[in-house]
Amino acid sequence: SSVVRIVEKQLDEILAIAKNPAQIRNAGTLAHVDHGKTTTSDSLLMGAGLLSPKVAGKALAMDYVEIEQLRQMTVKAANISLYFEHQGKPYLINFVDTPGHVDFTGHVTRSLRVMDGGLVVVDAVEGVMTQTETVVRQALEEYVRPVLFINKIDRLIKELRLSPQEIMQRILTIVKEFNALIDMFGPPEFKDSWKVDPAKGQVALGSALHKWGITIPMAQKAGLKFSNIVDAYEKGYVDKLAADFPLYKTLLSMIIEHIPPPNVAQKYRIPRLWRGDLNSDVGKALLSADPNGPAVIAVSKVNVDPHAGLITTGRIFSGTIREGDEVYIIGAKSKRKVLQTYIYMGPSRIVVPYMPAGNIVALLGTDDARAGDTIVAANYSGIPPFERMKYISEPVVTVA
Ligand code: GDP
Repeated sequence: SSVVRIVEKQLDEILAIAKNPAQIRNAGTLAHVDHGKTTTSDSLLMGAGLLSPKVAGKALAMDYVEIEQLRQMTVKAANISLYFEHQGKPYLINFVDTPGHVDFTGHVTRSLRVMDGGLVVVDAVEGVMTQTETVVRQALEEYVRPVLFINKIDRLIKELRLSPQEIMQRILTIVKEFNALIDMFGPPEFKDSWKVDPAKGQVALGSALHKWGITIPMAQKAGLKFSNIVDAYEKGYVDKLAADFPLYKTLLSMIIEHIPPPNVAQKYRIPRLWRGDLNSDVGKALLSADPNGPAVIAVSKVNVDPHAGLITTGRIFSGTIREGDEVYIIGAKSKRKVLQTYIYMGPSRIVVPYMPAGNIVALLGTDDARAGDTIVAANYSGIPPFERMKYISEPVVTVA
């Protein structure tokens, strides 16, 4: 990956959002293999960039072509921060990469630790499958709220030739299967409130391949019926559907509305993920995602940059991390100095002077850290690390 420096004006805009937890979301996609996780992520990354169109348009540091190239490359990216305006307000959506397949080494779980919500992609024809069950269960173990995207609606029309009523029935069946998982594996206190309700816009339907997506409230507001969607396929105006209801807008709006911001999520996630004293300074800072508290970072990933060396990626649960900070890596028992801090824009890292609690950050200099480790401010070396993650490799029950 390459390092990009951007001008002050662009940095100011990003940092202003990053400082306000209400305008941050940490999410990623989860799915059974072949249900459309990659296609869905691609359409999100292509639809929204890191910079607001207004500021990106001025493009002082990079010329337009470079920005466009970066946008193209984001498709294959690991992590990325997306800029998206919802109801007139700017948001920074840190989109966490999750492995394509359920593996047995805990990669999915490590990604889950740094997210507060997961967009679960389910193929409309196949419905909830074994790996859907595994990833939803893993998400719930980590107190990550799953929301639902029923993908490949086009297959119901073109392959199964279902009527509008039958499509509705199929969707309701999948919603029921999904909610059965939440009922079975959800945290007791959230079993009810985390079940998804299509009428509340907590379920999106669409086609990642054809780049359209809707929620029920959205369709009602626009006067769109299932018969119109069937018509769009039969009479050949799917492009209009994609223009009127772009998938990335629908999914990012659903993420903003139904996945909690970091300061809200940490209130219930911290008691579950960290066994220290919740009434201590650190405990209180973690519960409220306090940018003025001691720095505490959960490491989700380590990768090698051929030029710079090891890059550590993680979620800042409390405090603010800055270039030059002395930190302690709990698992490795080592003291290190942060040499540079970045956020991701596709394959590139953007140098930032600091990053506050609630965000995903990449660090240079914390070489001994490994995925799953905890990095803290050097003078807080005595605090407990984050809990070890529980790996669920096999489904216990299969939803019929
Ligand atoms: P992943 O394994 O979950 O990442 O799935 P991919 O995104 O790679 O998609 C698997 C296959 O399903 C690919 O051939 C996609 O082109 C196809 N696919 C994805 N979304 C749709 C869709 O909305 N409709 C149809 N018909 N095919 C889709």
